[in-house]
Amino acid sequence: MSPTTTPPPTLLWLRRDLRLSDHPGWTAALAAGGPVIPVFILDPNVEHGYGAAGKWRLGQSLQNLSAALSAHGSRLILRRGDALHCLRVLIAETGARTVVWSRVYDPDGITRDRAVKTTLASEGITTQSVNASLLFEPWQVETRSGKFFSVYTPYWRAVCDRDVHNPVPAPTNLAPPPAWPCSDNFADWPLHRGVNRGAEILSQFACVGETMAAARLDHFAAVQLNDYARRDFPAADVCSRLSENLTYGEISPRQIWARIQAVRRASEHNASEHNANAAVKFLKELVWREFAYHLMYHTPHILTANWRPDWNGFGWRADNDQADTWRRGVTGIDMVDAGMREMYVTGTMHNRVRMLVASFLTKHLLTDWRVGQAWFRECLIDWDPAANALGWQWAAGSGPDAAPYFRVFNPDLQGDKFDADGTYRSRFLPYYSGTVSEDAAKFSRAAPRSWRLDPNAGRPAPVIGLKQGRARALDAYRDRNTKTKPEQEFA
Ligand code: FAD
Repeated sequence: MSPTTTPPPTLLWLRRDLRLSDHPGWTAALAAGGPVIPVFILDPNVEHGYGAAGKWRLGQSLQNLSAALSAHGSRLILRRGDALHCLRVLIAETGARTVVWSRVYDPDGITRDRAVKTTLASEGITTQSVNASLLFEPWQVETRSGKFFSVYTPYWRAVCDRDVHNPVPAPTNLAPPPAWPCSDNFADWPLHRGVNRGAEILSQFACVGETMAAARLDHFAAVQLNDYARRDFPAADVCSRLSENLTYGEISPRQIWARIQAVRRASEHNASEHNANAAVKFLKELVWREFAYHLMYHTPHILTANWRPDWNGFGWRADNDQADTWRRGVTGIDMVDAGMREMYVTGTMHNRVRMLVASFLTKHLLTDWRVGQAWFRECLIDWDPAANALGWQWAAGSGPDAAPYFRVFNPDLQGDKFDADGTYRSRFLPYYSGTVSEDAAKFSRAAPRSWRLDPNAGRPAPVIGLKQGRARALDAYRDRNTKTKPEQEFA
């Protein structure tokens, strides 16, 4: 190569890593020396990987990144179709010799990426994959006997003192290629079409893009973290809400880790035990996300089948009318209905309420956890396959390190304890305090007409008595056939 020859472009294939800062993919692609062409491919893996709300939110993230790249003199290239096919076409069009991407850890994504890697390598294209979305690679954390962890606390102990690389700043020198390949028109992509409840309601709650995610982290670290001990109280605004941004990779876990570790160190230095403890409590939560990925990587059946095969004989009901009342937030159990309405309106739900609505569906209503998992997937803008599956299997009792089945949350007692003054329930239930809050009114506007909800209706009759549901669940648990049966196809 003569000194004046520019190296060929590198394709940076973006997926759940829609940002510029602390992105090892950008670093690797720029290190190749040529211009970098960022590309997002709407392939079947992506199309099936998100529910309606997630797809809509993904679209918001892509538009945001596209604008950010334009401001840097770059351009986001959009293509739709089979990933390998799209990459080959782009390679032919641009003369790229290298493709860089950040790893995903779900089984379908791994299968796709392996096939892409093998085929491109056989065609003389260099491929490089990097870790842009986890603190610890799932295969780099092992028990003493070289196995994966299936219990959280020892996992935490194994990683809590590990070094985590400092985040790197966003690149500044994004030289354009001699010619940009053409891009799909974003407006032609069907990402918003499934959001029946109206994107305009969801968009009031979404916090889109890298800049907003960084601002969210700033606010959390400076204002909310010190009160994080109250994270179980759904009306307390003390959680980071960063799950939404982590889902699309608008922020990296390393950025969050580094920031909160700095708060922890400063608090220890100032002998503020309270604040140091709050920081550790938060880091432990962030590590639950790592643990979920660790489990999804090592035991991918966690996404679709009972993690513990001895649950295969359990008599969960398939989808049913009572599950429908659960989805629509009309079970007549206030904490459950408030949570389900929160999710429908805002696209997220408070963690404690997620736990108790999941417990109610799988225990009081004896309904298969996969019915709930599917509805969460449809509604959440922070949908994450690993965290969601772990959450559902934890609540149902069928998962690793799960809540014992006999521990059945009582949603009324949970309300008394964690929403004692009813602020949370009033926010989403128009009949709770007699005053219709803005968000309660939004639910009435957002709910599909086919649900036939009357905005002026009072509290629905309870779909099941809490004592009766608990007793039924415990009976079913006692009668459980613990013999391992092959997993039945879930309809
Ligand atoms: P914070 O309290 O601020 O915690 C910081 C970060 O730690 C979160 O952003 C998240 O990345 C991680 N985290 C916290 N709690 C958990 C947890 N229990 N498991 C895994 N990671 C955790 N989380 C998702 O990101 N996507 C999901 O689809 C999802 N589905 C869930 C389903 C069920 C049934 C349950 C019980 C939990 C689910 N969770 C899910 C985990 C948890 O509820 C959310 O991560 C949390 O509510 C996000 O709010 P936050 O960002 O304010 O959390």
